[in-house]
Amino acid sequence: MIITVASGKGGVGKTTTSASLAVALSKFGKKVLAIDGDISMANLGILFNMEKKKPSLHEVLSGEVDVRDAIYRHKTGVYVLPTSLSLEGYKKSDIDLLPDVVNEVADDFDYVIIDAPAGLNREMATHLAVADRLLLVVTPEMFSIVDAVRLKESAEMAGTPLMGVVLNRVGRDFGELGRDEIEMLIKGKVLVEVPEDESVRAAALKKMSVIEYREKSPASQAYMKLASMIAGDP
Ligand code: ADP
Ligand code: MG
Repeated sequence: MIITVASGKGGVGKTTTSASLAVALSKFGKKVLAIDGDISMANLGILFNMEKKKPSLHEVLSGEVDVRDAIYRHKTGVYVLPTSLSLEGYKKSDIDLLPDVVNEVADDFDYVIIDAPAGLNREMATHLAVADRLLLVVTPEMFSIVDAVRLKESAEMAGTPLMGVVLNRVGRDFGELGRDEIEMLIKGKVLVEVPEDESVRAAALKKMSVIEYREKSPASQAYMKLASMIAGDP
């Protein structure tokens, strides 16, 4: 199954969610490929300490190498297709090649998780179209939800239904929207609430996902719960 992790607004936790869900699913014995789909501002590779790997997705999308040459196994067991931070790499990449690249390897994995860029541009349209399901990441604020609604609608137009919503950074602010309000606005189910958790940032500083860094932290437990829901384990 191909899951695109996306949001309307930037900085809400897509990369955090992609990496953590990938690691959590692999803890449930699933074979997972995490793809850094944000080809202009790659971040996912950093959480697997693979941002300097070459070849990366850039070389795959420029037609220089086969996709299998750019997939690396991380010590958590997750397979990663990282993207480099190079501007040259971005310039030579052809996003239109992405669907073929993803489909070529998808059958080798139980789950392919694509960390998408923010916004509703052509790149996003490609990430949505290739996915079987959309996993929306939102924070409990109005703008985050409004943008998420538009994204969900365009995913549905592209034939990609919503898997559910990850409500991230809960408890960070006063006056947050509640779960029920959010479900009503998005017309979709909040699968899990991920609390604001300082371990998330501490892990990023160490170039790790939060689960690798501190498995018992509140955010890690939320992502383990999400993975168990998705993988269908009790
Ligand atoms: P996006 O990929 O949507 O831009 P990131 O996953 O990069 O978002 O997260 C943006 C910032 O917020 C990062 O600095 C990250 O460490 C921090 N962050 C994300 N989720 C949490 C959380 N639950 N608790 C604390 N900090 C978080
Ligand atoms: Mg990101």
